[in-house]
Amino acid sequence: MAVPLLDISRQHQPILEDLRSVFNTALETSRFIKGPEMEHLEKEFAEYCGTERAVGCASGTDALILALMAVGVKPGDVVLTTPFTFFASAGAIVRAGGVPLFLDILPDTFNIDPELLSGWLADNCSVTSRGVIDRSNGSRIGAVMPVHLFGQLADMDRIMTICNDWQIPVVEDACQAVGSKWNQKRAGSLGTAGCFSFFPSKNLGALGDGGMVTTDSPELADRMVSLREHGGKGYIHEEVGFNSRLDAIQAGFLRVKLAHLENWHKGRRRNARYYNKAFRGVGQVTVPVIKKEAWSIYNQYTIKVPERDELLNYLRKHGIGCAVYYQLPLHLQKCFERLGYGEGDFPVTEAVSKEVISIPVFGELTEEETVEVVETIRAFYAENG
Ligand SMILES: *Cc1c(COP(=O)(O)O)cnc(C)c1O
Repeated sequence: MAVPLLDISRQHQPILEDLRSVFNTALETSRFIKGPEMEHLEKEFAEYCGTERAVGCASGTDALILALMAVGVKPGDVVLTTPFTFFASAGAIVRAGGVPLFLDILPDTFNIDPELLSGWLADNCSVTSRGVIDRSNGSRIGAVMPVHLFGQLADMDRIMTICNDWQIPVVEDACQAVGSKWNQKRAGSLGTAGCFSFFPSKNLGALGDGGMVTTDSPELADRMVSLREHGGKGYIHEEVGFNSRLDAIQAGFLRVKLAHLENWHKGRRRNARYYNKAFRGVGQVTVPVIKKEAWSIYNQYTIKVPERDELLNYLRKHGIGCAVYYQLPLHLQKCFERLGYGEGDFPVTEAVSKEVISIPVFGELTEEETVEVVETIRAFYAENG
């Protein structure tokens, strides 16, 4: 039996009529961009995340760029993040004019190691009238960007303590963590700003592209509202922004889907719980480690196995959907050669990138399908044990 990595149509089946009516309304009103649908979504999304404000935009990538610009990242500023993430985390830093500076991850959670962050700042930085400066080259530290990978929040207690001490803004890349919590608080409500993606395969997916930034600061939110419209109010421009719009129709789809999100998380978490038990004693499988402070929405269920490529081929041959996030760490990407990193610079990231494999966990999987996934992996170890 084949099992897909993700099948969004199963999620949409029970809400087809609601989605169609959003489309009909857009057609009837000819309101295609932003407008009341987006404003309603912004309110509902802020409420869901537990923040004062939310600002809609065209994608998760744009959300990151908007947030970085709004917190004051200027051309040449350093932004600290990890090399084990989707390309957009670092791509957005460069697009905002910043320079990514990578720090390694923790081997169990795949998230930024806060002790490396604290150590790097202590060893390299000083506070000056221009802000926090890297003494080796005079670069300003513009922001820290923790990525909540696969749905689990980075250690936001430690990160916020460190960054508050240094007074460095924190831009959460929460693109894989809508609804996830750290000590009962939702992703996007812990940092200076939180960035979300509504790419269709994310836990809250539009029927196209979309993004959102959350923040408790009205000043930051207002600045992002301006930046997403070329940095102006009407035709008066105080700074140069760009064009990043959330379509009214996507906002409408997202409002329909947001109402079901908590329920959909239940399905993913049920599947994850099943896997956590079922993989006990199966070959060399390491199941995801979720910290006691964290509550994950399992955007991915990512296991670690030493014989990753063999297992990947075996699963593909047997029709089990799977993927490797992420095969080539960002510090080894061609486009970042100029940053001067090389093989061996981030040993945890490099080791993990050779061991990870993500398997189907979406909420609408049947019990039969999750059993099939486990039995196929068990069979792999029986044949290759
Ligand atoms: C998906 C994702 C993004 C980018 O979102 P888009 O909507 O595709 O632009 C950024 N960071 C992470 C970690 C992501 O998973």
